Amino acid sequence: MVLLEGLSRRYQVGENEVYALRDIDLEIDQGEFAVVLGPSGSGKTTLLNMVSALDSPTSGRATVAGQEITGMDRGDLFRFRREVVSFIFQTFNLFPTLTALENVQCGGEIAGPAREARRRAADVLGRVGLGDRLHHYPSELSGGEQQRVAIARALVTENPIIVADEPTGDLDFRTGVQILELLEAQAVAGRTVVVVTHNREISRVADRVIELSSGRIASDGPPAGGRAPISDLH
Ligand code: ADP
Ligand code: MG
Repeated sequence: MVLLEGLSRRYQVGENEVYALRDIDLEIDQGEFAVVLGPSGSGKTTLLNMVSALDSPTSGRATVAGQEITGMDRGDLFRFRREVVSFIFQTFNLFPTLTALENVQCGGEIAGPAREARRRAADVLGRVGLGDRLHHYPSELSGGEQQRVAIARALVTENPIIVADEPTGDLDFRTGVQILELLEAQAVAGRTVVVVTHNREISRVADRVIELSSGRIASDGPPAGGRAPISDLH
């Protein structure tokens, strides 16, 4: 589903070249729940940006859902971001003047009549435990609830890939675990889920932990010490 081959992303900073990613080879299959782990500055966000076509490599190739990102024109990129990858941000990025229901409805660009779109958005909000918060504005929701709205906005689409950049970063541990449970359920349902974190404890619930260090893959495999059921983290 995701294939990165000899991929590098280099930045020119004044006289210096900085490699955010260097010579990455990585394959992630459909239905995998992969966590990208690493300290600040190790290249995690750059990696997600490659997978979601928000940025492109300076050398090497990124192929996602069978499409090579480097060769895409603006129209292809627009379609790719709408139909292939859903992105969940650390800071939620909800529209402050829209209710939870409206955020999910418009973020999802759901096809079909408006009534049906509303029903689906409400249904997904129910599934993330916000059935009684449909008409609340983001400022009336806790951080964990806002993140669940952002997740609902990704779930209401049928996009095969969900990427999340430190979605638990601003949340307390327990709430972070609930967010991971929701994301894991998506992988079980067959979507490919890639979650960035710098929290090693949280990475223990993944099928696979891809550890980055200074733009390179330092290790890749099941979590050290074996996979922990999410219930162990409560
Ligand atoms: P992480 O998400 O793991 O904290 P990033 O992917 O954001 O790391 O960044 C990786 C490295 O690339 C860092 O050293 C960062 O300073 C550098 N970098 C990221 N974006 C830019 C940019 N726009 N210009 C220059 N350097 C950048
Ligand atoms: Mg980052």
